[in-house]
Amino acid sequence: MQHLKTFFLLIIGTLIMGCSSEIKQDMQKDNFKYVIEQFADLRIQRYKIPQFDQLSLKQKTLAYFLYQAALSGRDMFYDQNYKHNLYIRRTLEGIVKTYTGDRNTPEFAKFMVYTKRVWFSNGIHHHYSNKKIMPEFSKEYFTQLVNSSDEYELPLQNQERQADLIKKLTAILFDPKIDAMKVNQNPKNDLVKSSAVNFYEGITQKEVEEFYKKITKPDDPEPVSYGLNSKLLREKGEIFERHWKTNSMYAEALKKIVYWLNKAVDFAENDQQKKALQLLIEYYETGDLKKWDEYNIAWVKDTTSIIDVVNGFVETYNDPLSYRGSYESYVSIKDWEATKRIKAISDNAQWFEDNSPIMPEHRKKNVKGISARVISVIVESGDASPSTPIGVNLPNSNWIRKEYGSKSVNLGNIVYSYNKAAETSGVLEEFAYSPEEIERSKRFGNLSDDLHTDMHEVIGHASGQMNPGVAEPHTTLKNYYSTLEEARADLVALYYLMDQKLIDIGVMPSTDAGKASYDNYIRNGLLVQLARVKLGENIEEAHMRNRQLVSMWVYEKGKPNNVIEKKVKDGKTYFIINDYNKLRNLFGQLLKEIQRIKSEGDYNAGRDLVEKYGVKVDQEIHKEILERYAKLKIAPYAGFINPKLVPVMNGDQVVDVKVEYPDDFTKQMLEYAKEYSFLPTYN
Ligand code: ZN
Repeated sequence: MQHLKTFFLLIIGTLIMGCSSEIKQDMQKDNFKYVIEQFADLRIQRYKIPQFDQLSLKQKTLAYFLYQAALSGRDMFYDQNYKHNLYIRRTLEGIVKTYTGDRNTPEFAKFMVYTKRVWFSNGIHHHYSNKKIMPEFSKEYFTQLVNSSDEYELPLQNQERQADLIKKLTAILFDPKIDAMKVNQNPKNDLVKSSAVNFYEGITQKEVEEFYKKITKPDDPEPVSYGLNSKLLREKGEIFERHWKTNSMYAEALKKIVYWLNKAVDFAENDQQKKALQLLIEYYETGDLKKWDEYNIAWVKDTTSIIDVVNGFVETYNDPLSYRGSYESYVSIKDWEATKRIKAISDNAQWFEDNSPIMPEHRKKNVKGISARVISVIVESGDASPSTPIGVNLPNSNWIRKEYGSKSVNLGNIVYSYNKAAETSGVLEEFAYSPEEIERSKRFGNLSDDLHTDMHEVIGHASGQMNPGVAEPHTTLKNYYSTLEEARADLVALYYLMDQKLIDIGVMPSTDAGKASYDNYIRNGLLVQLARVKLGENIEEAHMRNRQLVSMWVYEKGKPNNVIEKKVKDGKTYFIINDYNKLRNLFGQLLKEIQRIKSEGDYNAGRDLVEKYGVKVDQEIHKEILERYAKLKIAPYAGFINPKLVPVMNGDQVVDVKVEYPDDFTKQMLEYAKEYSFLPTYN
C-alpha cells in the first residue's frame, strides 16, 4: 500500500520537506548536484544520506550488509516484469561495453537512450504507463550493433550465434503488437493473457481465479497472502505455483540475499530486529507464506531500530489480479527530528477514525499501533529503483495491519532531492490561476505536501474496516482495487487537511495550508498530471486514475454550487476553488462512498466510479496541457542513482563504511550488472 508516487513534483515543489533542521543546514552548505541528466520522458537525480556518518560502526556494518542484500535481488524484478527482460538487458549491456563501431552518431545516441530507458523501467515496458518502449533506431542498426559487439559479452545460450540472438530479439523489440502491455487493466480482455508480466504461463484469468478460490478459506481470520511469492503455470495439464525460494525459481539471487542477511543478523541492533531478519531468511529458504506473515509481524514490532530494511516480494501493482509481489528493497536510517511531526499525527489516529465522515459501522474501534517515521534512504532496489515512491506503508496484509498495525514512512531525503529539482521548474507559475494561489502554494505547499503524505499513509490506509464475511478487498474489487484504495487514502488526507485538529496538535499553522493543498490537488488531478499521458490515450496507472477520479467527482458534484470553477484566460484553462468548505464536504461524501464500496466489496459501484471519472480524458484540455507542459521542458518522471557504500576491510572485518555519490547513471547500471547479475537468462 505504498506508492505515493511523485506527483508533488509536478505541482509545486519549493522549499524543503521531511528533513530535520540540522539536515537542512547540512544539505544547504554544499553544492551537491541533485539533477544529473534528462532523456526521453525521464530525469535522473541523486540523493544524499545526511546522517550516515553519525552511525556507529555496528550500524554502518549492518547497513552495508543489508545494502548488499538489497542489490542482490535486482535481477528478479527484471525477470518478473517480462520473461525476456534479462536476455534483452544483457544484450544491451554487451553492446554498450564492447560495440566497436562509431559511437558518435545519432543512431548510437538513440540506442543509448533506449538502453537507459530499459534500465530505468527494469525492462522494456514503461515503468509507469506499462506500455512497451519502442526503440527509435532501426532493426538494421540493431543487427549492426550486435554483429559489431563481442560475442562473449552477449547472453548467447548453448550453440547460439549472434544471428540467432538478432532473430529472437528483433520481433520482441520492434514489433509493437508483441507483448504490448506489461500490466493490462482493460476488463474487456483476459487480464492475465493480455499482460506481458512474467507471473503466469499458459493459463487464463478464469483459471487463476478458480485456482485461488479453491485454496482460500473465506472465513480464515488470518489468511496468508496467496500467490505472493510464486509464478503460476501449467505443466502436463496441472496448474501449480513455482515458488521464489532458495531451492526453486530465482534460487541464485535469493541465495545471495540470504548470504548477506545472515551476516546482517550478527549486527542487528536488538533482539526484535534479529528475530525479524531470521524469519525473513527462513521465508526465503522455505517459500512458506506463514513465515512471511511471521516476519512481517516481527518487523512491525521493531520500532526502535535506527537502521531498517524492507526486503521481499511486496507490492502487487504489477499483477493484473493483485496476487504476486514484485521484488523490492529499501535500506534506511530513521530521521528523529522529522519523525516528531508524523508522530503527532499517528498519536491521534483514533480521533481521526472516530471523526471520519464514513458510516459508523465502517470505523475501526481500535486503530492499532500505527508506527510512522521519516527516514533517509541508503539504497533502493527492484520495484523501488530507480523510480521510487516517497511514502511507504507496510505490511500489506489486512489482518496483520488490523492486529499489529503497520509501519509508515516518508522518504525524507528523496523528497528533499525532488524539491531541490523542482524549485526552478515553473510548473506552479504555469498552471496556478492567481498570484494569491501561487503565493499560498509557495508558502505552504511544502508543508501541505508533507501533511498530505503523512495523512495518506499514516491515517488513510490504516482507516476503516471491512464488513464481517466480506473477502479481502483486492479479490472483490479486482482491477479497480488499487485505484479505489489510493482514492480512499487521499480522501482521508484531504478531508482532514482543512480541519482545526491539525492546528490543535501543532502540525499545521492555519487552514491556509489546507487551502494550498486543495489547490494543488485539483490543479494536478484535472490538469497537470495529464502531462504524463499521451494524447488519445486513457489514464491507466492506479494513482493517476485515483487523482482524476477524486478531482473530477468533486468538480461535477459541486457544479450546482459552483464549488470549483473552470476558467479560461488567454486561451489557458484553469480550475479554481470558490468554496473550500463545501469542497471539503464533497471529499467527505466521496470518502464515505468509497469506504462503503471497500467494506461491502461492491465491485459494480467501484467499477462505475473509476470508469466514469478516473479513466477518460477530455481531448481538448489534454492537448492544451501537453503543449503548455512541453514549453517547460521538464521530464515528467524522475529516478535516482543510488549512493555507493564502500567497506573498509581489515581481513574479513569491516572497520568502516564510506559513502560515495556516483554521478553517472550508465556507469552505475553497468556496475550493478557486473556485481549483481545472478540469475541465468531463462528463455
Ligand atoms: Zn497509498
